[in-house]
Amino acid sequence: MPIMSGPESRSDLNARIDARRWADRSSTLQTTVHFDRMRRLAEVVDPTSAPCEVEFQFGLDPHHQIRAKLHLRGVMRLSCQRCLEVMDWPVDEVIDFRVVQDEAQLQEDEDYLLMDEEGCLLLAEVVEDELLLVVPMVPRHESCTLTGGPSQGHDEAEMAGMSSERVRPFAGLDALLSKKVDP
Ligand SMILES: [Zn+2]
Repeated sequence: MPIMSGPESRSDLNARIDARRWADRSSTLQTTVHFDRMRRLAEVVDPTSAPCEVEFQFGLDPHHQIRAKLHLRGVMRLSCQRCLEVMDWPVDEVIDFRVVQDEAQLQEDEDYLLMDEEGCLLLAEVVEDELLLVVPMVPRHESCTLTGGPSQGHDEAEMAGMSSERVRPFAGLDALLSKKVDP
């Protein structure tokens, strides 16, 4: 078996990645993925969307901890919930994951990936999870030609604020609940 010491570059998102080896060699995985080939995303993203660029950069931090930096770039085509026409939703996300074998190694509020018992990662699922976080709760054109409807006014500003940061699951739930009790 040839011993490789330089950085590797791969493109198979479905491969099992030996995280330690990849980090030691500062290897990179670069590929594209169709939004609508991912089971959960296919339900919300229009099949005419161009493929998303995916890059995972592995490395070791100064404490010799494994890091995986994910960069997702593309444009999702979603349907505007007001006029039901297709709208573009640009995606440009960088997430710096710590790669650990045990959740006990984590500090609070860290993005992390968990290796399996053999020290491997499956990245396809990670990409879909992160892309799902980017999908707005209620996709709408910034200036929709269809005006009126039930959601106007301060709600608009709220949406704009939300879309500028990463939307966490349930992040919008509080807003929804408080809207109900506080008309
Ligand atoms: Zn619209």
